[in-house]
Amino acid sequence: MSNLRPFTHRIYVDFSGDDGDPRTPGASRCLCIAWVASAESELSHNKSVVLQIKKIIGCRKSDNLKYKKLKRHRFKDKALALLTQLRVIVVIVPVLKERITDQELRSPRTKKLVDLIHYFPLSVLIKHVMQTYADIYFQLVFDRVGWRGCEEEIRSAFRQDAELDWKHARPDWLLFTKSGSNLMLQLADIVAGLGHEYIDSLQGMKLPPCTVCAVKGKPERMCQYRRGKRVLPGGGLIGLIYPLLIKNEQGKSWEHGFLVRPPAVCREYMFIDCIFGEV
Ligand SMILES: [Zn+2]
Repeated sequence: MSNLRPFTHRIYVDFSGDDGDPRTPGASRCLCIAWVASAESELSHNKSVVLQIKKIIGCRKSDNLKYKKLKRHRFKDKALALLTQLRVIVVIVPVLKERITDQELRSPRTKKLVDLIHYFPLSVLIKHVMQTYADIYFQLVFDRVGWRGCEEEIRSAFRQDAELDWKHARPDWLLFTKSGSNLMLQLADIVAGLGHEYIDSLQGMKLPPCTVCAVKGKPERMCQYRRGKRVLPGGGLIGLIYPLLIKNEQGKSWEHGFLVRPPAVCREYMFIDCIFGEV
């Protein structure tokens, strides 16, 4: 019977950037993936928010909304302000490609990096939704990717996950579809694009050393970077999606809704909660 059960939630996955070598011209420095989860009952509300964003920037309902179109639009701020109305939960994973030391993972030829980011953040999300909602049954929706073998790689990675019950899963549990006809995948593209733009804007900057705040468990209001209102550039826009990011019991999104990779780099980004966290 379980394979006839309707989905209670859907999780949409899309990424911004490319897996090219960051040292080559034209390749992105960062690859950012976004996981956007919505309850079935909130889908129509969330889709209407996406349609309102399209309306503000003069994008036709049927056109594929991409963050690229929004990035330099004169109504960008007004359009993105609507993100605060969403009823979704989000995990974003910015990957700083130049900081990856594993050559095999780093090489665009292996496609390993793109495969990996398509499934590793899921465990965080699953843990969170299992704790938050009772009796959840979700569908995973991916943007159909261009190269051969990727879908199969992702499927087999999920099949190896012992926490997932494949035997009783609906055949459409993992769905690969075109973003052009899926408003929620377009939303995932926007969230990923926003995360990407934010991380790019921080490169080459001195980041606040908030490891001390985190280690001491200091409340955000005590952080000198917050008290001094020294908010980093690009902060205004990422602040729009910060409330949607998954938080742990202490209300921190670092390493929960905001996972910077490779792991050696993640501690540099602890300031995210100091700067955008509730006071
Ligand atoms: Zn701090």
